Amino acid sequence: MTTIPERTRRTGKMPVPPISMISCFLIDIEGTIVKDKSYAPVEGAAEWLKKVKSSGEKFSLVSNNTTHPPEELLSLLKSQGFDLEAQNLDTCMQVTGEWLKKKKIQSCFVLGNQALKKYLEEQEFEVREDSLVQSVVAGLDEELNFQKLKTATRALVENNARLVALHANKIYGDSKGEIAPSVGAVVKALEYASGKRGLIMGKPSIDFYRNVLRRLETKPENSLMISDDPLSDLVGAKKLKIKTAFVLSGKYDQSILKSLDKKKRPDYVYESIAQIKI
Ligand SMILES: [Mg+2]
Repeated sequence: MTTIPERTRRTGKMPVPPISMISCFLIDIEGTIVKDKSYAPVEGAAEWLKKVKSSGEKFSLVSNNTTHPPEELLSLLKSQGFDLEAQNLDTCMQVTGEWLKKKKIQSCFVLGNQALKKYLEEQEFEVREDSLVQSVVAGLDEELNFQKLKTATRALVENNARLVALHANKIYGDSKGEIAPSVGAVVKALEYASGKRGLIMGKPSIDFYRNVLRRLETKPENSLMISDDPLSDLVGAKKLKIKTAFVLSGKYDQSILKSLDKKKRPDYVYESIAQIKI
C-alpha cells in the first residue's frame, strides 16, 4: 500500500471538521474499514461502526468487492469484529446479477475468480469459457492472461456481447498490501480493443449510489460517503451532491488530491474513519 508520508503523519494537520446535517453514512470497505484484501480491520473502525449503529443513524457498506459474494463478505467482516447484518451491505455483485436479469442476458464470459463465476451460476446465468456469450462480465481477476483477454475481445467484437464492468477502480491493495491494477484498468483495455463502452455496475456509477439512497430512504445532501478512493468513489458520489470524506488509511495519500480539480476534491479529509465524530 502507498504509505502516508512521514511529514503528514508527524504534523497531523488534517482538517477534522464536525459533521453536521449528516444522518446517513455510505462506507467503503477496503482501505476504509479494513486495510486491504487481508481484511485486517483499520484501527478503531469496528468501534466506530458500533457507535453509528447505536446512534440510530442509517448506514450501508457500499462495496466494489468482486471476489466474495455478499453473504461471504458479510461473514468475513463479522469474523473481523464488525457487527453487521445483510441489510447493511450493498455490493456491485448484487447489482450486476440484477442488471443482467433485467436485460434478459443469459450467458457471460467472466473475467474474475471462481467466487464470482459461482455467484453468477447460482443466479442461473450460463457462465461459458468461450466467446459465444451475450456479455463479458469483468471483475477482479488475479489470474488474468492474454488468452482470457482474447476470448473477451472476441466476444465483444465477433459476438456483439455487452461489456459489463463490476466497477471502474484504477488500483487496489492486494492481500500482500501491494498496489495492483484493478478492474477499471482491464475494462479500459477491453474498451480500447473493442471500441465499446463498458457499463459500470458498482461505484462510482450514479445509478448505484441512487439505488442505495433510495433503499435507505435518505437524501444525498444528508449523506456522507467515506472512502480511501477520491478519484473513483468520491468523485462519483459528489456528482449526486453526496458529501464526501477521504480517509488516508488506504491506497492513496493526500498528494493524490493534486490530480483533481478543486470542484472534484472531497469535502473532508481524515487520517481514518475512527476520527469522524458521530
Ligand atoms: Mg477502498
